[in-house]
Order: sequence, then C-alpha cells, then structure tokens
Amino acid sequence: MELQNLNVVVIGAGVGGLAAAALLARKGAIVTVLEAQDYPGGCAATFAREGYRFDAGATIGCGFHDGGPMDMLGKELGIIWPVSPEPVAWQYRHNSLHLDLPPQRLGILERFPGSAPFWKEQAELAKLLWHLAEGGLSWPVKGARDLARLARKGIAGLPGSAHLLTFSTKTVFEWLASHGLDSDPDFVRFIDAQLLVSVQTTSRYANAVNAAIALDLPLSGAYRVKGGIGTIAELLAGAVEDNGGAVLFRKKVIRIDSVRRQVFGLETSDGSAIAADFVLANLPPESLALLTGPESKSAVVMNECPHWSAFVLYLGMDPSLFSALPTHHVQIISASGELAEGNSIFVSFSPGDEPDRAPEGLCAVTVSTHTRPEQWFQAKEKGSAAYMELKSTFTEHLLTVLSEQFPQARDAVRSISAATPVSWERYTGRFQGLVGGYPQTSLFKVRGPATSFDNLFLVGDSIFPGQSLPGVVTGARRAIELLLQRNEKTVREP
Ligand SMILES: Cc1cc2nc3c(=O)[nH]c(=O)nc-3n(C[C@H](O)[C@H](O)[C@H](O)COP(=O)(O)OP(=O)(O)OC[C@H]3O[C@@H](n4cnc5c(N)ncnc54)[C@H](O)[C@@H]3O)c2cc1C
Repeated sequence: MELQNLNVVVIGAGVGGLAAAALLARKGAIVTVLEAQDYPGGCAATFAREGYRFDAGATIGCGFHDGGPMDMLGKELGIIWPVSPEPVAWQYRHNSLHLDLPPQRLGILERFPGSAPFWKEQAELAKLLWHLAEGGLSWPVKGARDLARLARKGIAGLPGSAHLLTFSTKTVFEWLASHGLDSDPDFVRFIDAQLLVSVQTTSRYANAVNAAIALDLPLSGAYRVKGGIGTIAELLAGAVEDNGGAVLFRKKVIRIDSVRRQVFGLETSDGSAIAADFVLANLPPESLALLTGPESKSAVVMNECPHWSAFVLYLGMDPSLFSALPTHHVQIISASGELAEGNSIFVSFSPGDEPDRAPEGLCAVTVSTHTRPEQWFQAKEKGSAAYMELKSTFTEHLLTVLSEQFPQARDAVRSISAATPVSWERYTGRFQGLVGGYPQTSLFKVRGPATSFDNLFLVGDSIFPGQSLPGVVTGARRAIELLLQRNEKTVREP
C-alpha cells in the first residue's frame, strides 16, 4: 500500500512508541497513537504532584551526543532538544569511596590503576560497536555466521576488531578475570553497580559486548533535560501531530482483533474500535499477549534470567543536602548486603534553576532501586496491611541507605510518595511492573520487533538493543524498517 494511505496504530506513548510514530508520520503514513494515561512518556515521563514535577523512572538523558541516536532523531524530526551536558554523569559512592564519572576516566584510573588495560579494551570494543551501529547494525542476528559477517564489516573499518567474536560469548566477570581484576572486590562492586543500572544484571551474568557499550555511557555524555525527562516524550508527541498524526490520551487498548496471521483492528476501554493496516505495540511481549489472546506466540519469554521491577521514592526535599555534588545524580551502594532490593539506590534531584520543578526553595527527588516483583504481588494478595508494611519497610530502607552518605537526609525530606512494582504495572501496563529492560546476558537470546502476526511489531525496551532513550529509539528504527519491508512485499504481492 502507498505509504500515504497506510493506517498505522501505535499502542502506547512511551519514547519507543512515539519515536516510531513520529518517524512514520514524517514519512507520510497516517499514524494514531493510543495512550492509556493522560500524559506521554511511560517510564520516561515527568508527572505533576503537589507542586512538584517528578521524573517517574528515567532521569538521565543519554544518546544526545553528536551523532548519537537522540541527536539523529532530533535532526530528522526538526526537534531541538532542550538538553545540556552534565559535567559529571553521576557520582558513585560506597563507604568512603566517592568516584565522579565524567567523560574521562581519570578518577577511576587513579583509584584503580590496574584497570587501565580493561578500559582500553572496553573503549576499542565500544568504538567498534558504535561504528557498526552507525552502519545500520541489524539485530538480532541469527547466529554466529551473521555475527562473523558483522565483525568482518567492523574489521574493514577498524583493524583489530576481530575481538568482537571472542567477546560475544564472554561474561563480564570472565573479562575482568582476564585482566586479574576479579580479585579486587571494590572494582567488581563498582562495575556491578554500573551494570545493574545499564544492562540490568551484574558481571557474572552480563554479556561482555553489551557491557562494553553500557560502560561507555559516562564517556558519550549524560545530559540534563530542561523541564524533566518527560519533555522528550512531549516533544515527540508534538512531532507526531506536526506531521499529521494524532496522539490520543486515556485510550487504553483492551483487545487486538486478528484473523490468522493478520491483525486488523483494536478496541479501547471506552468502547472505540479502530482499524489498522499495521500495529506497533510499545509493550513487553507478555502484555501484548494479553491483548492478542493466548494463541499469540509473542508471549514466549526469551530470557531465562529473572527480570527486575523498581521501587521508587518521590521526595520533596531541601536541596542544600546535595549542594556539594558536582552533578544532579548520585549512585549509593549500602555498606552491607547484595546490590538491589534497596541496598543500591540511584538518586536524582531537580536543578535549582528550574523553579517549575518544585515549590520555592525545594527540589524534586527520585530515589530508585531494583526489586523483584513477586514479593510485592504476594503481599498485595495477602491484603493491604501486608502490602503497606512492605512499602514502609522499603521506604525506611532507602532512607537509611541515603542517610549513610547524607546523614541529614531524613531532616531534609518535606514530602514523600512511592511507586512499587504494583504501581508500575497499573501505570505502564507492563506485566508485573517489569520496567527497566531485560537483563542483557546473551547477544543471541534477544528479541527483535517481529511477532507471530505479519503486521504487528513490538517497540520499546523489550526488543534489542533494550532499555534507555537511545536504546528504544534504535529499536523503533528497526521496527519501522521491518514494517516498511512487509508493506513493500504486500505491494509487490497483493
Ligand atoms: C527507575 C528507572 C530508571 C531509569 N533510568 C533511565 C535513565 O536514567 N536514562 C534512560 O535513558 N533510561 C532509563 N530508564 C529506562 C527507560 O526509562 C526505558 O527503557 C524507556 O523509557 C522505555 O520506553 P518504552 O518505549 O519501552 O515505553 P514505556 O516507557 O514502557 O511506555 C509504554 C507506554 O505504553 C502505554 N500503554 C501500555 N499499555 C497500554 C495499552 N493497553 N493501551 C494504551 N497504552 C498503553 C503506557 O501507559 C506507557 O505510556 C529507567 C527506567 C526505570 C524504570
């Protein structure tokens, strides 16, 4: 079908869904985005509460560096992103170890001088992967043969990059061991903490290639987004409409109608029925399966590693607590306990020069930790007392860990609310509130945009390359590529 006559419906106004919608609308398709909430952004939204504007989940803008996925997207859509680089991406704190993560590794090398060869290798690998990505990296690959082909492509541009094959099956821990770094608990803890927030797992399970890109983040730059991270989704929603599309809020899709391998329409909870030639679902496969029915094969969970959800505190605070920090973000690892479940927290506070983010003299703070969802749903089953007790235990634990590094933290709190995996499920429509992306344990066991329906594709952080704003934008491009290929095929073979 001519693109100008092609009706595309996108379920969900997360960043992945909106990026795909805006790019398709720009190409001329008739695009409608259906969003269950009354504002866009999903995990990367900014919401208003009691005079504050809190970032719901994501707080750091990344991928905005020259030639990065967000930079390229903005240029293509004519959006000038209101972003500015943070001189330090975030500060890492564990007991007395305080490490700034600026776009150079000087502080890390000073504290861990033996890690220099590891970082050199990481930089080479990341450079190769960025190079491949710029050349239109198609992923997932079907196996080692495809990967070898990609590596050859890399080798042509970057001599010495045959490494890719060696690393593709290695865990980060094996990689660390090859440099003798596995016996330094401080270094392993530092790497684990970075990996947990970027590839959703730690060195013993994380794939070395995924990790090489993830560990590059402070170098490629962390950006502050004016107005909060949700500004990005708001601008993308604007771009959909500027290109003739529509973004409809409070439109929760409850069913996708199909015949054999074709979907043809959707129903929303307010009783509307909408026809579609193609559907892009900005959902994890488990949630999509609930809409398409049990016959859908898209429900297959491809990663054997358990997934995370998040527990997040939204605090109104006195900003003087953070006045000595060189950045708006700090990662704190508790003196004791395994990472996650409140023992490692990521803290972000709104900049002082953005008065619309908080009542006068205060700031909006997001404190998040990884948590397994099961305990939350079990507590909810037991009743509201058990659920509230768990919520209050987590709240106290996060405040205790914050106080380990900022002893005045409790006195600085002016207001407090929290989101649990149960809240995340209700708010994002994601099964069990599984947010943050899949654990990146294998390059081969990743999901692409295709589903068992010919004209239904996934976008968002459940498909390769996964979580983060640049991640879901890259995935959205891959979904569009497939959609256009399928459409061309139907034009040729009516
Ligand atoms: C705590 C936390 C911190 C993070 N920190 C960062 C960070 O600092 N930087 C970064 O880049 N990334 C970060 N991430 C990851 C990033 O936020 C996500 O990877 C990304 O925003 C996911 O986008 P998505 O396209 O998958 O859509 P989602 O954010 O999952 O949005 C999906 C949208 O679809 C809507 N929807 C769902 N079901 C339906 C339905 N049936 N009908 C209609 N609408 C529906 C939802 O309401 C939602 O708006 C963080 C994530 C979390 C949870």
